[in-house]
Amino acid sequence: MPSGTTLVTGIGVLVTNDPALGEGPLGLVREAALVLDGERVAWAGPAGRAPTADARVDAGGRAALPGFVDSHTHLVFDGDRTEEFGARMSGRPYAAGGIRTTVAATRAAGDERLHANVARYVAEALRQGTTVVETKSGYGLSPGEEARALRIAAAHTDETTFLGAHIVPPEYEDDPAGYVALVTGPMLDACAPYARWVDVFCERGAFDGDQARAILTAGAARGLVPRVHANQLSYGPGVRLAVELDAASADHCTHLTDEDVDALAQGRTVATLLPGAEFSTRAPWPDARRLLDAGATVALSTDCNPGSSFTSSMPFCIALAVREMGMTPDEAVWAATAGGAAALRRTDVGRLAPGARADLLLLDAPSPVHLAYRPGVPLVSAVWRRGARVH
Ligand SMILES: [Zn+2]
Repeated sequence: MPSGTTLVTGIGVLVTNDPALGEGPLGLVREAALVLDGERVAWAGPAGRAPTADARVDAGGRAALPGFVDSHTHLVFDGDRTEEFGARMSGRPYAAGGIRTTVAATRAAGDERLHANVARYVAEALRQGTTVVETKSGYGLSPGEEARALRIAAAHTDETTFLGAHIVPPEYEDDPAGYVALVTGPMLDACAPYARWVDVFCERGAFDGDQARAILTAGAARGLVPRVHANQLSYGPGVRLAVELDAASADHCTHLTDEDVDALAQGRTVATLLPGAEFSTRAPWPDARRLLDAGATVALSTDCNPGSSFTSSMPFCIALAVREMGMTPDEAVWAATAGGAAALRRTDVGRLAPGARADLLLLDAPSPVHLAYRPGVPLVSAVWRRGARVH
C-alpha cells in the first residue's frame, strides 16, 4: 500500500463522475488536480485550489478518468478457439455449444496454468485502464471443477461469479433437470464460499426461464446476488427474470421487447452491454440509445472469453458503443466506469471524488472523447490502482 500523499496536477480535463464536483453527468473539471492519500482519493478539483502533498505528478494536460470497471468477463479458462472464430467469420453462426470446447480444455489444465492465464488477462486489461475486473466460473461444470475455478478467480479479484449454469455439460445432455439439481445442490455448496454473485446463461440451448429462476433463487438463498446472461441470441425471459429477482445486472440485452426495456427502466437492475460479443459473432448490436432514452442504467463491459468476445479492451468497447449503439462519447465513458461500478453495486470505484478508491488512468489525449474518436490507438499512458502506479 502506498504511503503519503500524491498530487496529480496538470490534468487537462478530469472525469469525476460526480455531478457535485463538475459539469454534466461526468462531473468534468477542467485544469484539474487530484490528491491521492494511500489507497484513497483525498481531494479533487481545480488545480489552482489544490492542497499541497508529499509528492507531485504532472499530467501534462492529459485527460484523467476513473479506472474502467469491467463487470463481466470469463477469464478462468484454457485452450484456444481461433478455428471457431475463423469458421464463424466464414459464415457459420455462433451457437452456445462452442463453450464445450473450452470446458474440455479447462478441465484438462493444471491450477498453475489457469492462474497464469487469469493473471495474464488481468494484466492485459490493467494496461488498458481496467482497475476492477469481475470474472466467472463456468468452464468446469462439476462441483469440484467449478469450485476450483472460483478459488483461482478469487486469488485475482474480489468480484467472483458462480456460473455453473453456463451450459449443460455433455455428461448431462440427456438429463438437464439432473444438472439443475446438481447446480442448485452440491455444486452450489462447493462454490458459494468463493463467490459473491450467481449467474445463469438464460438462452435457447442453455437454460430456460424456469431453470434460471431455480438456480438464481438457490444462489440468492446462499447469499449470492444474481446477475443474468439475458437476451443475447434471442428474445426470452432473461431480462424480466433479472429485474423480478432484483439482479444486479442483466447482461447482453441484445434482443429486447418494449416490456423488457420498461422493466429495466423501472427496476434497479443495470443493463450491461457487451459489444465485443456482437463484434466477434457478427450479431446485431444492442440498442443502447433505446435503453438510455427509456431511463435504464447502462454499463459497458468486455465479456472477455475465448469464444464469443476475446478482447480485454474497454476502450475498444467504448468506441463500438459510440459508433454502433447510439451512445454519446460521454455516455459510453460513464457506462465503462460508473456504469460498471453500478453493475457490481459498488460506490467506491468508478468515480474520482474524496473517499473513492484511488483507481485512475491518464489518456495521452486532451479529452475522454478521444477513446471513441481515435479507435484502436493505445491512449492509456498511466494507471493507478489503489493509489499505486501500476502502469
Ligand atoms: Zn458472458
